[in-house]
Amino acid sequence: MNTRRDFLQKLTGSAIAFSLLPDAGQAADKADKASTPPYDGPVLRVAIMGLGGYGTRVAEAMQSCTKAKLVGVISGTPSKVKAWQSKYNIPDKNCYNYENFDNIKNNKDIDAVYVITPNGLHKDQVIRVAKAGKHAISEKPMAINAAEGQEMIDACKKAGVKLLVGYRMHFEPKTLEVIRMRKAGEFGKILFFQGLSGFIIGDPTQWRLNKQLSGGGSMMDIGIYSINGSRYMTGEDPIWVTAQETKTNPVKFKEGVDETIQFQLGFPGGAVASCLSTYSMNYLDRFFLNGEKGFAELMPSTGYGPIRGHTNKGELTQPATTHQTVQMDEFSGILLEGKQPPVPVDGEEALKDLKIIDAIYLAVKTGQKVALSL
Ligand code: NAD
Repeated sequence: MNTRRDFLQKLTGSAIAFSLLPDAGQAADKADKASTPPYDGPVLRVAIMGLGGYGTRVAEAMQSCTKAKLVGVISGTPSKVKAWQSKYNIPDKNCYNYENFDNIKNNKDIDAVYVITPNGLHKDQVIRVAKAGKHAISEKPMAINAAEGQEMIDACKKAGVKLLVGYRMHFEPKTLEVIRMRKAGEFGKILFFQGLSGFIIGDPTQWRLNKQLSGGGSMMDIGIYSINGSRYMTGEDPIWVTAQETKTNPVKFKEGVDETIQFQLGFPGGAVASCLSTYSMNYLDRFFLNGEKGFAELMPSTGYGPIRGHTNKGELTQPATTHQTVQMDEFSGILLEGKQPPVPVDGEEALKDLKIIDAIYLAVKTGQKVALSL
């Protein structure tokens, strides 16, 4: 059976590459640490909500953070809570379930809650976190449509807390180098972007194929990487979208759960993007950016790493990192020290992706070109 983890492992190109993966990232992280003096600034104290596959990955990666620390959990499964408590030394007073986590407002030892649950739950959970007076970090997609996303932004504003979204690629060194080169004009006028995002999804009973919990299908889960990538690679927000859906298995991919969508985006500077989002093909994790003077290719472009890439000037040699470690250290700087990230990671950034997803679904339904105003 194919799982998401299998997919992300395959994205690294080969079994050998994957076996080197954690070491490569950790070695780079360690080398960085060895060359910098010990950190004695503020530390972001985080509770993770949803102790599933990705929550587990984030928790492991956070063990190498300098500016962020896993201090609490929110889960509906007492046995998981126990296991995490002993593994990460989490005190009883920092453990909550889905019924009582509003009480986190009385806990002075937790600064932020990282919501890593099925997409359809993010909105209500983030709003409850905000009402409890804690900073909210949501996994992507931030919500299942733009209206929900807006509600989350408004609730966080009202509560005076910040809202961030787990866009880990916004801190990835090779991605940032391509962005730097594009900003410096090294590719010239940007003309074209291609984003390919897909994997073969397994278990038909999983929440990712349940519209209520997922909000859709591949687009919500993996297609969003091409959407978000089209924006940070071109440096612009699209002004129109067209889209076409194909479905080979209507039993597995029920009404409202997209299997494969091809979509096109138009940008104000004249560039166009051509993207594919699918739950029915493996080996799709490629970004290609083309300009009048050069190009960049990232492949894999959004897997857990190592990311690989080259431009018309040669191989990209920036270090491999553990994305979630870097993301959480950077989130600490943003939440506690007001730092500005290289590419935005806030609710407004995520809302743009949700507006594009809404427009893609509308374009599929109507067969029409849909105008966007982000
Ligand atoms: P998962 O199924 O492995 O874990 C989901 C967790 O939510 C489980 O612990 C489950 O018990 C809990 N949960 C709480 N209420 C639930 C309910 N009503 N139904 C089902 N599960 C419930 O999923 P995952 O892969 O960890 O994904 C969680 C979120 O993280 C999703 O939003 C996903 O898009 C995102 N994600 C992001 C990345 C990334 O690279 N940024 C990678 C994987 C997943």
